[in-house]
Amino acid sequence: MRGVVMHSPGDVEVVDRPDPKILTPTDAVIRLSATCICGSDLWPWRGTDQVTDPCPMGHEYVGVVEQTGDDVATIKVGDFVIGSFFASDNTCEICQAGYQSRCVHAYLMGIEGTQAELARVPMADGTLVATPGPPDADLLPSLLAASDVLGTGWFAAVAADAGPGKTVAVVGDGAVGLLGVLAAKQLGAERIIAMSRHEDRQKLAIDFGATDIVEERGDTGVDRIKELTGGLGAHSVVEAVGTQESMMQAIRSTRPGGHVGYVGVSHGVELPGEELFFAELHLHGGPAPVRRFLPQLIDLIWNRTIDPGKVFDLELPLEHAAEGYEAMDERRAIKVLLRP
Ligand SMILES: [Zn+2]
Repeated sequence: MRGVVMHSPGDVEVVDRPDPKILTPTDAVIRLSATCICGSDLWPWRGTDQVTDPCPMGHEYVGVVEQTGDDVATIKVGDFVIGSFFASDNTCEICQAGYQSRCVHAYLMGIEGTQAELARVPMADGTLVATPGPPDADLLPSLLAASDVLGTGWFAAVAADAGPGKTVAVVGDGAVGLLGVLAAKQLGAERIIAMSRHEDRQKLAIDFGATDIVEERGDTGVDRIKELTGGLGAHSVVEAVGTQESMMQAIRSTRPGGHVGYVGVSHGVELPGEELFFAELHLHGGPAPVRRFLPQLIDLIWNRTIDPGKVFDLELPLEHAAEGYEAMDERRAIKVLLRP
């Protein structure tokens, strides 16, 4: 099969990789209908994360089941399926509590590398959710978004306790932040403040339900949030970047008693204990348990209530993956969909 590998920062290539096989009886192999490039793929691309040559890339996926192991009971060959970037058994105590991303058997799909024609999915019954039937072609981007960015934005909004009567601020205008706006709107938030300096992203944020835009960042951005909230700060803040600046911006934008939902993969973030102590807020986040939300999100997409696929503003054949990485790195694209 063809698949994307990264050799070193800034160097990805589509190469022949061995076809994945059933390795354990609970595996499935899927043929990808679409895959994509994640904001987190830019950490190794930019050299922030180490690259072990040649590293298969990609952890988002939708597709059709081609093979199942002998112990796979609920997922069938021919099903159109979506799974999260963490495979999970969905049966252990952690999964049952809704934290499938930290399942005792959690397996990072990035190891398989789903920017490819085929992918092996471990624990298929626990990991995969089948759609009611083959999807209309125009639903594909939205279903793919559910695999990570929508599920992650949704978890962030839930972790931030977004809901009726709440003012929600969103730090980060990448695909996850924008879908955090969509999630806050669906969860009934009264006011949603998107923090973004880019006109195209501001427009999409408003389309997804943002009521206010704040262009400033850092402490100036915090001051703007305070001005908009009677000096108190937002009830709920979504953090979708993962840097020291964005995390402190999120914490300082939150009122005492409020909630921060943080899903930007933390890079070098160190929290000052004394400030945290007196901030008196709830901090909840981590790798999103997307599997918890998949059935609900698929339903909302299937019924055409939400259209999260709008975050894909560039579509390329898988063979042109390198062009997609460049476009996202240079912020010419919010998110790139790849067609195998
Ligand atoms: Zn589990």
